Amino acid sequence: MAAKNDYYEVLGVDRNATDSVLKKAYRKLALKFHPDRNPGDREAEEKFKEAAEAYEVLRDAKKRQIYDQYGHQGLEGSGFSGFGGFDDIFSSFGDIFEDFFGFGGARRSRSRGHRGADLRYDMQLSFMEAAFGTEKEIDVEKAESCTACEGTGAAPGTGVETCPQCGGSGQVGRSQGFFTVRTTCGHCRGQGQVIANPCKTCRGHGKVLVRKKVSVRIPAGVDNGSRLRLTGEGEAGAYGGSHGDLYVFIHAEGHEFFKRDDTHVLCQIPISFVQAALGDTITIPTLNGETDLEISKGTQPGDIFRLRGEGIPSLRNGHRGDQIVQVNVKTPTNLNKKQVALLKDFAKLEGGKFTSKLKGILKSGPSRAAN
Ligand SMILES: [Zn+2]
Ligand SMILES: [Zn+2]
Repeated sequence: MAAKNDYYEVLGVDRNATDSVLKKAYRKLALKFHPDRNPGDREAEEKFKEAAEAYEVLRDAKKRQIYDQYGHQGLEGSGFSGFGGFDDIFSSFGDIFEDFFGFGGARRSRSRGHRGADLRYDMQLSFMEAAFGTEKEIDVEKAESCTACEGTGAAPGTGVETCPQCGGSGQVGRSQGFFTVRTTCGHCRGQGQVIANPCKTCRGHGKVLVRKKVSVRIPAGVDNGSRLRLTGEGEAGAYGGSHGDLYVFIHAEGHEFFKRDDTHVLCQIPISFVQAALGDTITIPTLNGETDLEISKGTQPGDIFRLRGEGIPSLRNGHRGDQIVQVNVKTPTNLNKKQVALLKDFAKLEGGKFTSKLKGILKSGPSRAAN
């Protein structure tokens, strides 16, 4: 992935630029690089997208704070991935383009309606829920179409009227130098219609806040930072626009025994030095219960045993990773007299194998040791 430019530099503003400074700077760039003005120009297209992304982040106090503190990576971590293409940009900045261009942008956003806002929900999952999936019901507060007025915003029994300001076109003309610039009608906000008797339930907004229960199926293998998209579960759109989406951000808890590494699980098992030396079969916990693990003769501290397919299913293809068992050889303490005696006998039998090896290393060591 290509390195991204600094958002403030992209817009040519300093780091404490106010909202109006940001908007002005973005407006200038958007006008200059707008695709309608630079047909077929790839460089202008990239610049246009880059400016839109910078503005999208910096105009949002929350995203701006994340960016200031953690940079581009911080934003990726929080789920923002920029824009896919022009449609994304136009649907995100619908009204801004209407303000900016009496031409161009407006036609797109008006014919598409206004898509509802996306929502974010942060979900806490236990280690096992994340590993094997689950189904959860969540409470989401969101704006839905008002049922009293069926989303029109007009009191039941009344209707909408043609905007007296623009005669229903949604645009007004204003001369500027040689040109007549068409801008969005401020009275009806470009809709061409106004509400004479606002609905009492939604006060003319056409939307009301509701709490809704949404059932979320969590697939096996999600991890910290996984993001699920529930299409159409966001806020209601306006003027016939579609619903936004609901994004569920996963926060997976740790486990007292297992550590997770993507689809593998790691754990540490203590064994005695006798088990390590002579070998043994021990029972160890797995994600699915228990299993026997063969400790081979002469196992060393830190040696690793791999249980294939005992890990976590992959989110992509369902294949389960491995359980990786690291053995932790314990040196015995609090020995009784008999044990001490036995170990001394054992040491004699070993005949100082370790110490003679060490002497060899010291002799052939670095030159400062000679003399
Ligand atoms: Zn209503
Ligand atoms: Zn109007």
